Amino acid sequence: LRPNSDEARDIAYHFHSYTNARVHEQVGPLIMDRGDGVHVFDNHGNKYIEGMSGLWSVAVGFNEQRLIDAATRQMQKLPYYHNFAHRSHGPAIDLAEKLISMAPVPMSKVFFTNSGSEANDTILKMLWYRSNSLGKPEKKKVISRIRGYHGVTIASASMTGLPCNHKSFDLPIDGVLHTTCPHYWREGRDGESEEQFATRCAEDLDAMIQAEGPDTIAAFIAEPVMGAGGVVVPPKTYWEKTQAVLGKYDILLIADEVICGFGRTGKMFGCETYNIKPDIMTMSKQITSSYFPFSAFMMTEEVYAPIADESGRIGVLGHGYTGGAHPVGAAVALENLKIIEERDLVANAAERGAELQAGLRKFVDHPLVGEARGVGLIGALEIVAPEGRADEFAPGKLGAALNAQFLKNGLISRNLGDTLAFCPPLIITAEQISEILSAVDRSLDGFSAEIAG
Ligand code: PLP
Repeated sequence: LRPNSDEARDIAYHFHSYTNARVHEQVGPLIMDRGDGVHVFDNHGNKYIEGMSGLWSVAVGFNEQRLIDAATRQMQKLPYYHNFAHRSHGPAIDLAEKLISMAPVPMSKVFFTNSGSEANDTILKMLWYRSNSLGKPEKKKVISRIRGYHGVTIASASMTGLPCNHKSFDLPIDGVLHTTCPHYWREGRDGESEEQFATRCAEDLDAMIQAEGPDTIAAFIAEPVMGAGGVVVPPKTYWEKTQAVLGKYDILLIADEVICGFGRTGKMFGCETYNIKPDIMTMSKQITSSYFPFSAFMMTEEVYAPIADESGRIGVLGHGYTGGAHPVGAAVALENLKIIEERDLVANAAERGAELQAGLRKFVDHPLVGEARGVGLIGALEIVAPEGRADEFAPGKLGAALNAQFLKNGLISRNLGDTLAFCPPLIITAEQISEILSAVDRSLDGFSAEIAG
């Protein structure tokens, strides 16, 4: 590496998220320089189709002038204000009203935060406060799912059900439990139908609640479609059976819409795709297309009322962030949601999504593809070792090798272990879906040759 090159300085000074430090010192960074629609260009001018929308989030593409203008206008007018102690501002009010109007079920209040992790962390804290308000201090546990992803702060990482988020952090914290991952292809038993598997997932949840004591469980948190845990689409009847169990025990349902929200699954919210009736909904990522760090959650009146009553009695809910309800973020979110609605990007996600899903499913004939799955504009291929050679490949090795081929072919995906995820911007065209699929096709050929040795 040239001394003082961006690559060398990145290795010297930049501590990367989710990156093996020693490997990074050897392979160095991929440095992005600019974006244009669904494409990004690195610092050497190489062009890539961004098949992951960054981190599942850049819905409107990488150079949307309207978002730049919205941010600029707000920066010029009022670059910062907060919502502590009765203070407010126009963008926060407009956005709260807008989100409530979009909610798939009647919602009452919106709380603003800065990241998905922070939102979920705040929800758990708020529910602890609420349990105390209700005079049920023992009803504070939360159940999430193995391989669910809810963020990385201490409570959110605890709710996340992936080993790397717990290992060496002494997590999860007490009171956070993980139930069965609803991945039929991996977890389903021989002869078990998808519906039977969904019944078993609901029974596992029920048994966990019984074992812990229903009066100790405040909430169940889940993504409508699991994202970072490997793009796990719920098996048929999963959500209706799961919700029936929660209803039986008066357990709140937190729908983590951080990835699914704002069109990803072909409906405005994942909750609509799967007929989920949440009590609380977490939103981030596509809310601003990630042009500004921003998140929010909304709750029903039933969730909110005891909290409001309690603060009437004992004082404030002692929680909030300097950057919460940031006016620039709120202004960007409002403009972004306007674009999603005006351009009907939800319908585009459904139509282009159908093309993506059909294209991905064709790859299951390939001997190294175990499963193709997804819904709308979120999908995945799961890679398996050639027959009889499973021992040769450590978990994640094949996924990383295929991902490297994708990159060579100008496609950005993300390997979640041996699962390659696809989550392109909602503005994607039919031609660009073909561009992704043909890059996958070419990459699989190169990858097969490499594996064959
Ligand atoms: N929840 C879900 C479903 C996510 O996918 C993510 C991030 O990928 C988070 C929460 C955490 O969001 P953040 O990275 O903004 O903290």
